[in-house]
Amino acid sequence: MADLKKYPFTSILGWSASRYGTFKICRRKYFYQYYAKFDTEFGRDEINFLKTLTSIALETGSVVHDVIEALFKRLQQSSTPINPDKFTKFTEKAIQRGAARTFSEVYYKEREQITPENMSEKVNKCLENLMTSERFQWAVNEAISTSSEWIVEPPGFGEVRLGGLKAYCKVDFLIPLQNQIFILDWKTGKKDEYKHSKQLLGYAAWAKEHFSETYPEHVIKPIDVYLYPEYSEMSIEATDNDIQGLAEQIRSETQEMYQYCIDVEKNVPKNKSEFPLCEKTYLCPYCNFRKLCERM
Ligand code: SF4
Repeated sequence: MADLKKYPFTSILGWSASRYGTFKICRRKYFYQYYAKFDTEFGRDEINFLKTLTSIALETGSVVHDVIEALFKRLQQSSTPINPDKFTKFTEKAIQRGAARTFSEVYYKEREQITPENMSEKVNKCLENLMTSERFQWAVNEAISTSSEWIVEPPGFGEVRLGGLKAYCKVDFLIPLQNQIFILDWKTGKKDEYKHSKQLLGYAAWAKEHFSETYPEHVIKPIDVYLYPEYSEMSIEATDNDIQGLAEQIRSETQEMYQYCIDVEKNVPKNKSEFPLCEKTYLCPYCNFRKLCERM
């Protein structure tokens, strides 16, 4: 696997699709998510605990990602066929580990408990859809030829520089093959063409930044792989102009977030009172922090 670029540590905030998404949804949620240690009203441990709450949808996606990661790492080590019984047992254990986490649905008393059965149907369907897809056959029959160069869930947070600014674009799976760099992103939720296209462009920018010297002639092919309820894919072209356009958008969105810092370089936020509760109260029932806002 080619080495990723390393950047010197800086405290300044870095753009990511999820950070800016949270910022747009609710400034108060953004404060709790990214600046818990600056809160003077609630204990840092309490906020951090609420941050760790998962949900059935999130945890299902996380388990699917973990199993797929293990599957492709196993294929990197050996191209012999996957043993179905071992695979089933591995998946069951991953589901059990996921179900043992603290769920917001239980914490907020919407459900008594979450059992492995609450997740297993969707997890298994996602994995079945992947493993019966042409993409999977392509991976095990063609792309396997470059498996030593695959990057499966790269370490770190996907740090990159775009237009000189810090950003994070975390890629699931990268395959260099025949003058192309395929980037596959597993999706277990609904398709959101605008949001996901922007994410894919971010992955292309990440790959260009990290691998343009290792693979100077390769064309980058970012692909979203939707695993539920049916298998489907969405890919985008990622021209230099598109990546430049994304860098400009990230510059503008980063500036918006900088406005909420009293010290941009050290990433110190303004007072919490400058981060208002959102007006779209229909979002609050899905928010981990609703207890703190008394929007139960
Ligand atoms: S409960 Fe509502 S207002 Fe409070 S942080 Fe969450 S989304 Fe924002």
